[in-house]
Amino acid sequence: MGFEKMTEVQSRTIPPLMAGRDVLGAAKTGSGKTLAFLIPAIEMLTSLKFKPRNGTGCLVITPTRELALQIYGVAHELLEHHSQTLGIVIGGANRRNEADKLSRGVNLLIATPGRLLDHLQNTPGFVFKNLKALVLDEADRILEMGFEDEMRQIIKIIPSQDRQTMLFSATQTTKVEDLARISLRPGPLYINVDYHKEASTVEGLEQGYVICEADKRFLLLFSFLKRFSKKKIIVFFSSCASVKYYAELLNYIDLPVLDLHGKQKQQKRTNTFFEFRNAEKGTLICTDVAARGLDIPAVDWIVQFDPPDDPRDYIHRVGRTARGSDGKGRSLMFLQTNEVGFLKYLKEARVPVVEFEFPAKKLVNVQSQLEKLIGKNYYLNGSAKDGYKSYLQAYASHSLRTVFDVHKLDLIKVAKSFGFSTPPKVDIQLGSARDKRSTQRRDYGPRSRGAKRRRDD
Ligand code: ADP
Ligand code: MG
Repeated sequence: MGFEKMTEVQSRTIPPLMAGRDVLGAAKTGSGKTLAFLIPAIEMLTSLKFKPRNGTGCLVITPTRELALQIYGVAHELLEHHSQTLGIVIGGANRRNEADKLSRGVNLLIATPGRLLDHLQNTPGFVFKNLKALVLDEADRILEMGFEDEMRQIIKIIPSQDRQTMLFSATQTTKVEDLARISLRPGPLYINVDYHKEASTVEGLEQGYVICEADKRFLLLFSFLKRFSKKKIIVFFSSCASVKYYAELLNYIDLPVLDLHGKQKQQKRTNTFFEFRNAEKGTLICTDVAARGLDIPAVDWIVQFDPPDDPRDYIHRVGRTARGSDGKGRSLMFLQTNEVGFLKYLKEARVPVVEFEFPAKKLVNVQSQLEKLIGKNYYLNGSAKDGYKSYLQAYASHSLRTVFDVHKLDLIKVAKSFGFSTPPKVDIQLGSARDKRSTQRRDYGPRSRGAKRRRDD
């Protein structure tokens, strides 16, 4: 692959992993964790001379389908001169083709939890009794609500004797330690490459926020995207319906963007992911389905149009830029005046972020054209309503309620950012959403068959 030196996380985890130890590895976004687990995994499969009939020897579990596809790509490259077989099982793909492939023997299997559990329970030809290694990439995310039940069942079904476990992420929660306690063998190594470092984000990243009132939010985004039209940009939103609306709107007014969220068909998601990966410039607007692990080359800007749910999500979102050794990138978060309390949480999480100015006179004022368009275009009007409604719902179920208080929003201004001159009537009980747990608002795509559906699906 042309790499001459190991990154720090690689040099500290690959040797103990090759010696068969269990490892819980923490290192910043973009620091090379994928190779840190794939190299020992493939060495193990090779040295044990795994054949197709031996079935799955190593299992890699990831939270999203696109991340699974990406890891599959790296593993494919690494296995080029090996005889061991590689496979992938993800929700939204053809289940029967996957089952056929599993029955022919997949030594290294990359998977998302729901579909994996389905195959473990329902695919008779799937041989996993020889499993020797389990990898959880983005371990903290996989153990959050929504995946927890599935993970518990998976851990129960797969062999635990004589199995090595590798847990990796840029951020940790106590959940990871809980899992470490139950599923790691005695004497696991805890390797945290960053614990002595000042910031929890990488050095080459220049991070800013801008204070912007609700009614100016879209104008600012529009002006920003116009100004940086030669750059490669990812913009994060809090709900699928907002992504859908703003993508339709921007494409309609000749500012072409790609969009990615959990309510799309998988084929479309896959195409969009690879198209944006290979693009030199352009804009991707998306939910947190793209927040974790994706290694997209040369992204210039990460824009958080809707603030993240917590500092951990913030760190993963901005981690889509400034990747690899000496990577550079910039990020911009939109905050409304009632939301500046979030900065304190970022500070506590050791995220260095400064205020960026965006001069008011540089705002392209297209508000009246926007309102005219949304007034007369039936289709966009419907999407705008859905977007508006889901924005409020997401807001109401935010995990940091003291900062993101839906009752502090000025609905007239919020509606303006969706193109309405007066707020549309939406039928939601903002109060009741407050009891939902925060993770439910996040979009990590639809769940597989049999799994509980979350509100966002
Ligand atoms: P992480 O999982 O820690 O966020 P990745 O494994 O996705 O990071 O790697 C980030 C980027 O760094 C990838 O483009 C990868 O090809 C590159 N990379 C990995 N190992 C090395 C290395 N030893 N030297 C230089 N670049 C590397
Ligand atoms: Mg990764």
